[in-house]
Amino acid sequence: MEPRKRAKLAIKWPLKFTIEGRYHRARASTITLPHGEVQTPVYMPVGTKGAIKGVTFQQMRELGCQILLGNTYHLGNYPGTEVLDNFSGLHNFEGWDRNILTDSGGFQMVSLLKLAQITEEGVEFESPTDGSRMLLTPEESMRIQNSIGADIMMALDDVTNPLSTKERLEEACHRTTRWIDRCILAHNPSKPQNLFGIVQGGLDASLRDISLEGLISKNLPGYAIGGLAGGEAKEDFWKIVAHCTNKLPWEKPRYLMGVGYPIDLLVCSCLGVDMFDCVFATRTARFGQVFTKKGFLRLRPEEMKSDLSPLDESCNCPTCIKYTKSFLSSLLHKEQTACHLLSIHNIYFLFTLMREIREAILSGELEEYARNFVLEWFNGVENVPNWVKEALAEASITLN
Ligand SMILES: [Zn+2]
Repeated sequence: MEPRKRAKLAIKWPLKFTIEGRYHRARASTITLPHGEVQTPVYMPVGTKGAIKGVTFQQMRELGCQILLGNTYHLGNYPGTEVLDNFSGLHNFEGWDRNILTDSGGFQMVSLLKLAQITEEGVEFESPTDGSRMLLTPEESMRIQNSIGADIMMALDDVTNPLSTKERLEEACHRTTRWIDRCILAHNPSKPQNLFGIVQGGLDASLRDISLEGLISKNLPGYAIGGLAGGEAKEDFWKIVAHCTNKLPWEKPRYLMGVGYPIDLLVCSCLGVDMFDCVFATRTARFGQVFTKKGFLRLRPEEMKSDLSPLDESCNCPTCIKYTKSFLSSLLHKEQTACHLLSIHNIYFLFTLMREIREAILSGELEEYARNFVLEWFNGVENVPNWVKEALAEASITLN
């Protein structure tokens, strides 16, 4: 083996993972990263361009946020690596001294940009500004993520829809493993940053196994489950999550990408996932939809004119303490304040959910907690979908 490659394999990743409690497959842990501790299971809000839409950094801090997500593609475009390098990274640039995780940038290109094409070299796409052909390689993704200085960087993967053909899924899965070597080689190890690999393989368990084996052999500090939440059936979704958490190393963090519905967070935490991210909480808030213990609630200005109750009776967030449905719905689609107050509620709701799951794991009461949450969310056991029952049963949790 060439010396450079050997040196890279000995990278000391700046991550400590301590499991503090478990309930069958579920774990409660602390991930110690360069910018502090993260208690898991954790929901990570998505700040596409570095900041969360409608919520200030001070408020994120007060809500107890320990880690934020940033998008490499957007940050690489603006402010760009030159500015980020001048500030020694995104933390200094935006004044956020807690942890940051960045995606590889690949997903944005495939999902947002027309005519993205994936070759062995990288993801080729049409520049949204001038229409020229651009190429995101594993090396370029690492260069941008090193400039951002995220505490956790994601390796560039060959993103594909879980409903693609087996041939395409197989190609994506092998290519993702080949690209991880290029990511490790391109990483500047003088930067105190971690690199997570992304397990691919669609809905095919045997392809997932190939991907798992290839990535685990790289001895990375953590692993993500990618390629889900792409419109697949829930029965397929939870089985692949369970399959992956079953085979991923117990002593390393597992991150399920792009999943953020409250019920999915609960079920997948029970199945042994530690980290989640999703834009849904803040995006749906902007359209006037909030989470409550009894399920989704859509604000309807006409119907709620004289409704003086809070969004959720059991919620202690800054929005629910002060404001009524009547007031909040009157601002909807008229004032930025509505988006701000509803986003705070939704983020607080997910943070509280994750904290309660964690406490239930630590106190040995996860089964009771999960049962109560599910029965209230679906309003009775007769309304609980089969996939939820089956997935929870796999995690040794019954609803009766
Ligand atoms: Zn609230």
